[in-house]
Amino acid sequence: MTAGARPGSTRGVTSSTRTLALLGDPVGHSLSPVLQNAACQAAGVDGVYLAIRCDSEGLAGLLTGLARAGGGGNVTLPHKGDAAGLVDRPTEAVRRTGACNTFWAEQGLIHGDNTDVEGFRRALESVFPGPHVGMRVLLAGAGGAARAILVALMDLGVREVNVVNRSHERARAMARRIGGERVRVLESVRDASGEDYDLVVNATSVGLESRDPAMIDLEALGRAGGVMDIVYGSGGTRLLASAAELGVPACDGLGMLLHQGAVAFERWWGEPAPLEAMERALAEAV
Ligand code: NAP
Repeated sequence: MTAGARPGSTRGVTSSTRTLALLGDPVGHSLSPVLQNAACQAAGVDGVYLAIRCDSEGLAGLLTGLARAGGGGNVTLPHKGDAAGLVDRPTEAVRRTGACNTFWAEQGLIHGDNTDVEGFRRALESVFPGPHVGMRVLLAGAGGAARAILVALMDLGVREVNVVNRSHERARAMARRIGGERVRVLESVRDASGEDYDLVVNATSVGLESRDPAMIDLEALGRAGGVMDIVYGSGGTRLLASAAELGVPACDGLGMLLHQGAVAFERWWGEPAPLEAMERALAEAV
């Protein structure tokens, strides 16, 4: 997709401004408007980014309307799965995860991507540059974010991913869909005790609330080479605090948020995202 007229963002919103929006419920907590409006302004592209709370019935109309009007947007909980079925041209990432978080239109067709896959990969590269081939990973979670992360890990060529999730059936379904032989579903987190992992990833919502326990007890593991907790904005999870105490290199979910947003920006505007401005905007917002 080509960039809109410049320098739109300094002229304010006009009839040629492209409208992008986050569709989901809830959306009030989202940092995407801060992130994407800062990006539009820094890049000098003529776009505005809103957050629109919508239910399942409203999703199709909003998604197709925004895209057909020359805009696009993101989709968040609980609509990522439904959005995957609404786009005409899903990327490989959408097909493999069954989830779409970014949409736009080209030549009358609605395209959809799941930028959490590439966003996780870039965030991982920036903190743990690899090589990732041969790594042994412990992944907590089997929701939408975990599916995107599992696809990214498989593509990076990791040796093995051990998945632990509250609902075994959901974890088994994820492993069947994405993993193949390199994915093993653990019965419980206790099965990871004493095991060595090059990377531990928390992709559950545990840690969002300050009273939440650590999703994984790092001290019970044999070795943890690094920790990535994709929860963000909670002032730091117990898992991250425990990593700091044990001297294990760790990062929160802001990097993944930044990079999934940067990939989405690239899809909408067809140019590299202004990463530094986006990072600054996120840091100020949290
Ligand atoms: P989701 O599809 O609703 O999945 C939630 C996951 O958390 C499931 O694995 C669920 O287990 C688990 N979970 C929830 N409550 C739990 C509890 N009390 N004990 C144990 N496990 C629990 O959500 P999602 O989209 O995957 O998002 C998960 C987290 O990642 C959220 O905190 C979200 O904000 C964050 N996230 C961050 C980024 C980023 O860019 N940094 C991107 C996407 C998501 P069950 O399957 O058993 O329910």
